[in-house]
Amino acid sequence: MTASRVLVLNSGSSSVKYQLLDMRDSSRLAVGLVERIGEATSRLVHSPLTGGGAQRRERSGPIADHDAALKAVAEELTQDGLGLDSPELAAIGHRVVHGGLRFTEPTVIDEDVLAEVERLVPVAPLHNPANITGIRTAQALRPDLPQVAVFDTAFHTTMPEAAARYAIDVETADAHRIRRYGFHGTSHAYVSRRTAALLGKDPSEVNVIVLHLGNGASASAVAGGRCVDTSMGLTPLEGLVMGTRSGDIDPAVTFHLKRVAGMSVDDIDQLLNKRSGLLGLCGDNDMREIRRRIDEGDERARLAFDIYIHRLRKYIGAYYAVLGRVDAIAFTAGVGENAAPVREAAVAGLEELGLVLDPERNAVRSDEPRIISANSGRVVVAVVPTDEEMEIAQQTFSLVKSLSGPGNA
Ligand code: ADP
Repeated sequence: MTASRVLVLNSGSSSVKYQLLDMRDSSRLAVGLVERIGEATSRLVHSPLTGGGAQRRERSGPIADHDAALKAVAEELTQDGLGLDSPELAAIGHRVVHGGLRFTEPTVIDEDVLAEVERLVPVAPLHNPANITGIRTAQALRPDLPQVAVFDTAFHTTMPEAAARYAIDVETADAHRIRRYGFHGTSHAYVSRRTAALLGKDPSEVNVIVLHLGNGASASAVAGGRCVDTSMGLTPLEGLVMGTRSGDIDPAVTFHLKRVAGMSVDDIDQLLNKRSGLLGLCGDNDMREIRRRIDEGDERARLAFDIYIHRLRKYIGAYYAVLGRVDAIAFTAGVGENAAPVREAAVAGLEELGLVLDPERNAVRSDEPRIISANSGRVVVAVVPTDEEMEIAQQTFSLVKSLSGPGNA
């Protein structure tokens, strides 16, 4: 029997999200999450998706570290007959946030790869250490199995230097690997491809602006299937207004906060990453709550929404100019997929650019990719739900299949 299952792991500093997929039919066998690892109130939520009426299960109580978390996940999977010792498991695919410039493709993990991910910790201090821990833990559990890293930055490595470089002293930038890397690449890759399919075209034939609007948010300009610009930079702080991050800001604000407000670098880091964006502007970072407050006449929520939309429209305009010709704009992630008023406001009044929404199509709620522009609009506007786990599983599976070669499986 050919091994066809892939376990996808997304390891954060205190959480592990996982999905087990069967790549014969791209079905999900189980999904789950371990959160608050290392605290007394750890929690594992596991949902088997096989066998019809299988029930979601929850465990609470201390889970000391990633090793204990993964062992608990393995026990849950075993209970469903999906144990990680199964010969049907082909590989484990890991989301790795920062791959720098070296990793342009999914990569089988060995010590050399891990050392490079480690070398990138200074540019991804929050994410890469957790990803490394997740990988080491999974390696210990199944040392014989291929472990594959799928990098958030990989899709953006095609950006031309003109888009990827900051206009700062080149020697300083190079000495510290300071450049624009971009993030959410797995999502931008998946959504831009799905958008091309929605248009009945090959990705190489279309230019797409992808707007990934979740708690973190980023835009990308994709020309013929290749990323040519994206809004996040050295870190995921640059670009759009996000749930708790400021996005673009005059860098001199940081000097001012240090010199005049007396804040430390760590305080400023916290302010811009955790207490800014929608949360900083109005006290809420959930777009549902913001819309509810706007409907009640709340001025602060209105202003936060307007600032969010203003920035989004600037990026649409900028990427229009970067691409020259735009065939489609795709909205994705929590806000992009669900918030019709955000989509409406983002393209309102842009008929001259070929952007015309159909209000009824925009109001439809669905999990399927769908067109929301009017037939009269030259540019297709679409909602294309993202699926980063599926993309990681597919990339992982095709890599291990290509390695095992025909007849070797
Ligand atoms: P992330 O993966 O970055 O944590 P998601 O892509 O899951 O984020 O998006 C989460 C956000 O999506 C929430 O903070 C909320 O603002 C928004 N969201 C989810 N559902 C809705 C909805 N029905 N209407 C408006 N916004 C929504």
